[in-house]
Amino acid sequence: MRPDAPTSTDDRGPIDHLVIVGNGMAAHRLVATLCDKPRAPRRITVIGVETSHAYNRILLSPWLAGEMQRDALCLPERAATTQTGTRIETRLGERVTAIDREARRVTTDRGASLDYDRLVLATGSRSAMPPVPGMTLDGVHGFRDLGDAEALARAARHGGRAVVIGGGLLGLEAAEGLRKRGMRVRVIQRSSRLMNRQLDATAAGLLRGELEARGLEVITDGHLSELEDNGQGRVRAVILADGTRLAADHVVIATGITPNVEPGRAAGLDCDRAIRVDEWLTTSDAAIHALGECCQFGSSTFGLVEPIWQQVEVLAARLAGEAGPGYRDHPTATKLKISGVSLYAFGPIEATPEHDELTYHDPEQGEYRRLLLRDGHIDGAVLYGDTAMGPWLFDRSQDGMQFGSARRALLLGQADTETLIDDQASAPQATDTLAQEAA
Ligand SMILES: Cc1cc2nc3c(=O)[nH]c(=O)nc-3n(C[C@H](O)[C@H](O)[C@H](O)COP(=O)(O)OP(=O)(O)OC[C@H]3O[C@@H](n4cnc5c(N)ncnc54)[C@H](O)[C@@H]3O)c2cc1C
Repeated sequence: MRPDAPTSTDDRGPIDHLVIVGNGMAAHRLVATLCDKPRAPRRITVIGVETSHAYNRILLSPWLAGEMQRDALCLPERAATTQTGTRIETRLGERVTAIDREARRVTTDRGASLDYDRLVLATGSRSAMPPVPGMTLDGVHGFRDLGDAEALARAARHGGRAVVIGGGLLGLEAAEGLRKRGMRVRVIQRSSRLMNRQLDATAAGLLRGELEARGLEVITDGHLSELEDNGQGRVRAVILADGTRLAADHVVIATGITPNVEPGRAAGLDCDRAIRVDEWLTTSDAAIHALGECCQFGSSTFGLVEPIWQQVEVLAARLAGEAGPGYRDHPTATKLKISGVSLYAFGPIEATPEHDELTYHDPEQGEYRRLLLRDGHIDGAVLYGDTAMGPWLFDRSQDGMQFGSARRALLLGQADTETLIDDQASAPQATDTLAQEAA
């Protein structure tokens, strides 16, 4: 054992060997965070089934749209030994197939067995495939990893027709990427509006108008019935429940995600939709943690990185034997990564009787803002067009700031927010003036 660097202990004793299953965004950040800790585990082994080094999955959308180079996706590579002496091994292209909890050992599809003192499951999710005929045909893609994105980019080289199933964030980003690469693209959305979980009808209408003007075709209230085989195992059309037949050379499924719980579930860990964890990201086995999209905290599962970064902080501190607060659920805001479209939303979409609803809409400029206020504080917001105030509004929503008479100024979107804060804190009359000016 290193004489100068005490081994991580936490409340279960020394951690000599930490094994992490998955080499995605959560795992990469966990290792980087641990490496800055003086009491990191002595050895860390990361096992990831993807063959590439860790990359920024979020950037697959702009990469598909041709807005960045492949190299820009890469996350920084780790040194084999950190400054604090932790040795790190990364095993790529290898899948963990079984966990023996009694022996504290994982086995992989290459026949390797690795003993662990502590295990972290960071296996993420995969694209959820609707249970309709034709999902395994050639030409049907998910949009989850680099392999998917590269396959879509290759497909787009030949032009042709693509149908994207799902008009949420991922579906729209995939659709716009393929359109920019020269395909004729249709988006099928089951709901009556795009991004129905984040946008109200007005914002969704503005978004649809913008995307249609670029050449995307959007079909709402469209229910997938089956994917038609061309007789040679390849997709040739999408059939909707109302009988509509849409010719397709490629189909992208973006209808949601399914957490990769299989190794944890097979090992008998307590699972629901994902692997259940407590506030310390510990599963029902105290020697096994889970974080990221494969874990479930209370009734929450995860699909955005913001809460996952908070999980990383909690777990890294725990694994390094540091005291600190446990994980708590926090709301997150949504942005769409389609260049030229600015959209920012958080909180509830539907107004309840307790909400005051404030809206500003300038159809000519394509500007729309809607705030839901409850008892004077911001409960939710949808911004389309000028979204510069989005993060500020989100922060004020989180700190519960009361807006009272100044609230209408919020809708201007160009309000001097510093003044607004100062005014709120010290000069209520000035905020009244601001509100009058805004009106
Ligand atoms: C195209 C796209 C765009 C996105 N855009 C945004 C965005 O704008 N903002 C945002 O906040 N989030 C975005 N996300 C979501 C974000 O990328 C995820 O929330 C994040 O990657 C989750 O991290 P994770 O480590 O839990 O899972 P992942 O990053 O998926 O990593 C899990 C890794 O584990 C591997 N694995 C699975 N099972 C095994 C096994 N048995 N053995 C070994 N390895 C295994 C997987 O192959 C994968 O490499 C986007 C996702 C996609 C796909």
